[in-house]
Amino acid sequence: DPPEVAAPEVTIVGAGLVGCLLACFLARRGHAVTVYERRPDPREENAGRSRSINLAISERGIDALRRVGLDETVLKAALPMPGRMMHAPDGTLSFQPYSADGRRAINSISRSALNRALLDAVGGFPGVRLRFRHRLTTLDPDTGRMEFDTPGGPVTAVAPVIIGADGAGSAVRARLQHRPGFDLHQEYLDYGYKELSIPARDGDFALDPGALHIWPRGRSMMIALPNPDRSFTCTLFWPERELAELDTPAKVERAFTENYPDARALIPDLAAQYALNPVGHLVTVRCEPWTVLGRAAVVSLIGDAAHAIVPFYGQGANCGFEDCAELDRCLAETGDDYAAALLLYESRRKVNTDTIARLALDNFVEMRDKVASRAFLARKRAEHALERILPGRYVSRYELVSFSTVPYAEVERRVARQRRWTAAAALVVTGVSAWAGVILRNRVRAAVTGPEPGS
Ligand code: FAD
Repeated sequence: DPPEVAAPEVTIVGAGLVGCLLACFLARRGHAVTVYERRPDPREENAGRSRSINLAISERGIDALRRVGLDETVLKAALPMPGRMMHAPDGTLSFQPYSADGRRAINSISRSALNRALLDAVGGFPGVRLRFRHRLTTLDPDTGRMEFDTPGGPVTAVAPVIIGADGAGSAVRARLQHRPGFDLHQEYLDYGYKELSIPARDGDFALDPGALHIWPRGRSMMIALPNPDRSFTCTLFWPERELAELDTPAKVERAFTENYPDARALIPDLAAQYALNPVGHLVTVRCEPWTVLGRAAVVSLIGDAAHAIVPFYGQGANCGFEDCAELDRCLAETGDDYAAALLLYESRRKVNTDTIARLALDNFVEMRDKVASRAFLARKRAEHALERILPGRYVSRYELVSFSTVPYAEVERRVARQRRWTAAAALVVTGVSAWAGVILRNRVRAAVTGPEPGS
């Protein structure tokens, strides 16, 4: 039975991944929710088929989906990737499992299929109204008055609770950022990205579908995730200026033949795709406060609108889904007092989203460069060996981030603790072996020369 609560009227701006999941959480609490989305309904016939772009969902995202009963539906359409497949420049392949037992996997999911599944779920709640083709243009955080651009002209609405789930370029955030005390920090990488598609070959996957494929090349990097239609979506990361310099088919061919020869052979229309697909930008957004209490309204931010991060840990959507689960907990703890719950949610999440933003930037260097190095591979093997020797006591950062719901900031504290005691253990082992070496040397000397006088 739905809980007995006064039904607050909540507006969510943005029916992307996070906005939809949040609507499900709030509707389950019995709250009346209106979701405004600037785009048409992607489930409509004439909405246009988007390219098959995918993302990796791991435990944090799955946990949040599980809480609204959507995990099984979503995972049914996902392809598990239990490790990375490294592609060396000479075409040599090497597989690195993500977990010590080799069984845990991150899941490749079609972004649009996930969005459609979430929209279907939202549509199942009678208390939720979806308003497509409504682009937020104006918002007064004091009164809760909003204005939207629609095909029929401007539309206004007023709501006491407004939550911006409108992505990295959030219009809601833009309306908050000019208020005194609002801190906004945006950091663009000088790398851009371009999506390319490896089609199915003879009706089958052209690469192993049980892995996230990586071509680490130092200055550039490409990854590929499998799709259920047996194609792969590749994302090529390169400094933006160099991406732009590949402005003729011949230059594209040369760059791929030099850097990605095995992938080149799998993309027949490479130059055409390269010319057609736009360059995406990579931004980290940190802002504070997420929650602004106006005279007659409370406005807050969630998902990428609050904390856009670069995609190198595959955590952006996972982290946004975790936001929704946390806000739901805070509403339960505060008796559905939105102002109190949103402030509490922000105080708990901010430190964690700042941490994953930093880890995602650090992981770029790891993916682009280090995954190909022998030292990195040896460290991963040593880490997995430690995890097997000390199950549950030593867990790698990657596993804690991808296969647990331990808060990101706690992951960092735990990894630091593990590093300290493994360093101490290494010192003891080195000390013990040095000591054993001295004893052995003395014994050998004694055996050769006879006992020392007086010993
Ligand atoms: P969005 O998905 O951006 O949705 C925002 C919605 O708001 C959109 O529907 C938009 O149309 C709507 N909107 C915008 N402005 C307005 C307005 N003015 N009025 C009304 N509606 C508006 N994350 C992972 O977890 N795993 C991955 O493997 C992964 N890979 C990624 C790869 C790349 C290349 C990139 C760029 C990102 C990746 N991410 C990944 C991150 C993930 O895509 C985002 O974190 C996630 O989409 C955020 O969801 P959101 O709902 O907050 O924002």
